[in-house]
Amino acid sequence: MTNKMLGFTNTEQHYPETMPVAARESNFDEIYGQFDPAEAAVQAARCSQCGIPFCQIHCPLSNNIPDWLKMTADGRLQEAYELSSATNNFPEICGRICPQDKLCEGNCVIEKGFKSVTIGSVEKYITETAFANGWVKPISVGSESGFSVGIIGAGPAGLAAADMLRRKGHEVHVYDRYDRVGGLLIYGIPNFKLEKHIIQRRHHLLKESGIRFHLGHDTDGRAFDEMRGKHDAVLIATGVYKSREIEIPDYSLDNIVPALDYLTASNRKGLGDSVPEFDNGYFNAEGKEIVVIGGGDTAMDCVRTAVRQGAKKVTCLYRRDRINMPGSQREVKNAEEEGVQFVWLSAPKAFVGNKNVQQILVQRMRLVAHEASGRQSVVPVEGENFAVAADMVIKALGFDAEDLPTLFAAKELKLSRYGTVEVNNRTMMTSIPGVFAAGDIVRGASLVVWAIRDGRDAAAAIHQHIMTQARSIAA
Ligand SMILES: Cc1cc2nc3c(=O)[nH]c(=O)nc-3n(C[C@H](O)[C@H](O)[C@H](O)COP(=O)(O)OP(=O)(O)OC[C@H]3O[C@@H](n4cnc5c(N)ncnc54)[C@H](O)[C@@H]3O)c2cc1C
Repeated sequence: MTNKMLGFTNTEQHYPETMPVAARESNFDEIYGQFDPAEAAVQAARCSQCGIPFCQIHCPLSNNIPDWLKMTADGRLQEAYELSSATNNFPEICGRICPQDKLCEGNCVIEKGFKSVTIGSVEKYITETAFANGWVKPISVGSESGFSVGIIGAGPAGLAAADMLRRKGHEVHVYDRYDRVGGLLIYGIPNFKLEKHIIQRRHHLLKESGIRFHLGHDTDGRAFDEMRGKHDAVLIATGVYKSREIEIPDYSLDNIVPALDYLTASNRKGLGDSVPEFDNGYFNAEGKEIVVIGGGDTAMDCVRTAVRQGAKKVTCLYRRDRINMPGSQREVKNAEEEGVQFVWLSAPKAFVGNKNVQQILVQRMRLVAHEASGRQSVVPVEGENFAVAADMVIKALGFDAEDLPTLFAAKELKLSRYGTVEVNNRTMMTSIPGVFAAGDIVRGASLVVWAIRDGRDAAAAIHQHIMTQARSIAA
C-alpha cells in the first residue's frame, strides 16, 4: 500500500478510538485504542515532509519522525520500527505517554491551521506491530567485553542505559529497591495511561538480553561502596521521590496523603498485590469527596484514579490558571471529560477538621507579571476565601531529590543547588570518579523521554570511560 504524503491537504486529523467516558468510570484500562493498518498509513501520510522537521527538533531523542511516518505511509513497517527504535529504546512507552502536545505534535508545522500529524499514535502502532510480528528481539551480544557496570535504579533512565551498555557487550547489573522493574512507570503512572504488561514485556526482553536484575535491593552506604568495588563503573539513576510539602504550618489531620503513596497503592492493587492501606479504605477514594492539590501530570493521574475508584466528587485546586499548568493539556481534557472539577487560581490556606480533614479553606489567587522563568507568578487576592469539602486530600506538588550523599555515605558526591546530583554535562560523570548519573536525579522531576535520552548519553559516556581506562592500563 502506498499513500502519497502531504495528505493533510485533504485528510482530516484522526486519533484512534478512545474509550467512551461512561466506560471509564470504573475501568483502569488504557483509554486509547490503536490504529488499524489502513488508518495508520493514511494518518502518517498527512505529514508534509517539511524541510526543517520541527517535530524531530523538539523531540529530546531527535527521533527521525518524518522518515518513519513516510515508511508507515508506504507500508514499510519493519523499516519504520528499525528507524524508530534506533533512537528510542522504548518507543512503545513514548508513543503512549509522551506529552506529544508539547513536543513533536505541538511543533508540527501543519498544526497551524490543519491540526498536527498524530505522531504518538503512529509510533505506538509501529511498535505494537513490531512486537506482534516478532521483530523486537532480545539483544544478542557478539562477544563479552569482560567489563561490568552497576546501575542503581530500574526506571527509564537506568533501563535505557542498561540496554545500550549490554549492546556493547558489558555485563550489566541493575539494582532497585522496588520488587518490580520500571520505577515510576510501574508504580507511579496509572494503567489508564500505561498498562503494566507493557513494562513487564520490556523487562522480560531485557532479562533475556542477559541484563541481571537485583530487585528489593535498597542501596545504602555499604551497598554503594560494594558496588564501586565490584563494577568498572556505576550509574546512579534513582529518580526523585521526596514529596514537596504544602506551605501550611502544623497541620496534623489525617487523610491528607502524598500523591505517590496514593498512586503506588492503586497500582499495586491493580497488579494483584496485597495492599492493607487500600483495603482498609485509607488510600481508597470510593464514596469520598477528594481534593487534589497541584497542576502537573501527577495531579492529573490522581484525579483520574479517584474517579475510577468511585469517588463521590473529585476537585483539583491549582494556584495558576489552565494555560499556565505544567501538566499536559490532553490530560486536563481527559480529566474534565471524566467529571473532575478544576478550580483554577486557588491555593489551600488551612485544613479544617477533627482528626480527619473535613474541609479546605481556599485562598483565591491572581496572576501577576512574568517571572524571569517566563511563567507568571501568583499572589493572593485579599479577602477572597472559600471552603471546599474534603474527605481526603492528595498532595501533588512535585518532588525533590533524596539526600544521596547521606544515603550513600558519600559526602564527596556533589549536588546542585536544587539538591540533584551534579554531573559534568559532557562526560555525565559525578564528582566521584567512575560514578555517573542520569534521569530525574540529575534533571529534577521531568519526563520519560528525557530519562531515556539521559540514560543513552550516560551509557555512551560510561562505555568511553571504561574503554579509555582499559587502554591506559594496557599501555
Ligand atoms: C505520577 C506521575 C506521572 C507521570 N506521568 C508522566 C507522563 O505521562 N509522561 C512522562 O513523560 N513522564 C511522566 N512522569 C515523569 C516520569 O515518570 C519520570 O520523569 C521518569 O520516570 C524518570 O525516570 P528515572 O529513571 O530518572 O527515575 P524513576 O522512574 O523514578 O526510577 C528510579 C528508580 O530508582 C529506584 N531507587 C531509588 N532510590 C534507590 C535506592 N537507594 N536503591 C535502589 N533503588 C533505588 C526506584 O525504586 C525507581 O525504580 C510522571 C511522573 C509521576 C510521578
